[in-house]
Amino acid sequence: ESDQARDRGLAYYRADQDSYSADRLTMVAELREALAQNELALYLQPKLSLTSRRVVGAEALIRWPGRDKPVPADQIISVAERTGLIKPLTRWVLETALTLRTRLVEAGHDLALSVNVSPNNLREPDFPVFVQRLMTAHPEHRNRLILEVTETSMMLDPANSLRALRALASAGIPVAIDDFGSGYSSLSYIKQLPATEVKVDRSLVTDLRSQPEDRVIVQTTINMCHDLGYQVVAEGVEDQATLELLSRMDCDMIQGYVLVPPRPIDAFVEWLDAPERARQA
Ligand code: C2E
Ligand code: MG
Ligand code: MG
Ligand code: MG
Repeated sequence: ESDQARDRGLAYYRADQDSYSADRLTMVAELREALAQNELALYLQPKLSLTSRRVVGAEALIRWPGRDKPVPADQIISVAERTGLIKPLTRWVLETALTLRTRLVEAGHDLALSVNVSPNNLREPDFPVFVQRLMTAHPEHRNRLILEVTETSMMLDPANSLRALRALASAGIPVAIDDFGSGYSSLSYIKQLPATEVKVDRSLVTDLRSQPEDRVIVQTTINMCHDLGYQVVAEGVEDQATLELLSRMDCDMIQGYVLVPPRPIDAFVEWLDAPERARQA
């Protein structure tokens, strides 16, 4: 299978074609065990409003210490997607995210919390109902839990994705289009999405200052998204000068190492509460 097909999630598992198949099978078993034993964690990364210069949200990102070394999030997710484990995994992520949000609120930080959802989840017939039930059980999180879905993944199954996202949106669950500008999309599809937020992919953001072409694309994306009624978040901002440039370009929010890399909730709250940050704001 081509890398392109794999990227688009069109691949199916063929043990005979996978040179890492033995490793992969071990990893599947270990991941299943890790999920059952609650060995996975969600790290948090802040989202900063460029207008208020305040932290307005956070993104939850999966972490797994693994048996001998940490396994990258992309790899955890691709293994989970190929084996059906993505269904219980995402449900664990959603439930855990709500627990974390409760802790943030208790610590005095009423932040919106974003979680990433796989296209496979949007194809589960009972996914919207699962999320709706979660919101009914925890109404305090309504409109404060944001689901991130990548544009490319939605293009795999546009009709079903749209149906699922509309069901979620009508139940008070905001949707963000993740990794925008990194892959396949259709502008006529984008305009129909019940999204509140578009996240511009890191690949267009990181070298924004040195890449005039990226600046054209990002500025045009910001303008277009605003005209369509979406808020814009730039991902992967690594330095203060890029943050200020994005502010001048009228970008709404940023994430990136310029603030802090993703960290466990206690360290995240510590960072939020640090006196240096209060002075910065
Ligand atoms: P994403 O949702 O686009 O998340 C942003 C990624 O960029 C994260 O990588 C984050 O750690 C990284 N990042 C943030 N700021 C910077 C920066 O300034 N520079 C650089 N170089 N990187 C930055 P991570 O945590 O490795 O996650 C990778 C991808 O894995 C995510 O991309 C998302 O697509 C997926 N993912 C992570 N957690 C979950 C999850 O719980 N469920 C699902 N379905 N997917 C997840
Ligand atoms: Mg994301
Ligand atoms: Mg992204
Ligand atoms: Mg990504």
